[in-house]
Amino acid sequence: MQRECPGCAMPVEIDAAECPICGYELPQPSRSYRVWSLGAVLALLAFLYFWLL
Ligand SMILES: [Zn+2]
Repeated sequence: MQRECPGCAMPVEIDAAECPICGYELPQPSRSYRVWSLGAVLALLAFLYFWLL
């Protein structure tokens, strides 16, 4: 997957920490992913809790 660099408008890898062309420091889009992961873990724990009762 690729996205457009805000610094030079060239396509760069989505998980790149910085643009290999202009060196622009790219913001990491992993925050919402972490929230989703946390939600999934909590849902699993709740499921196990009710399943064990
Ligand atoms: Zn760039």
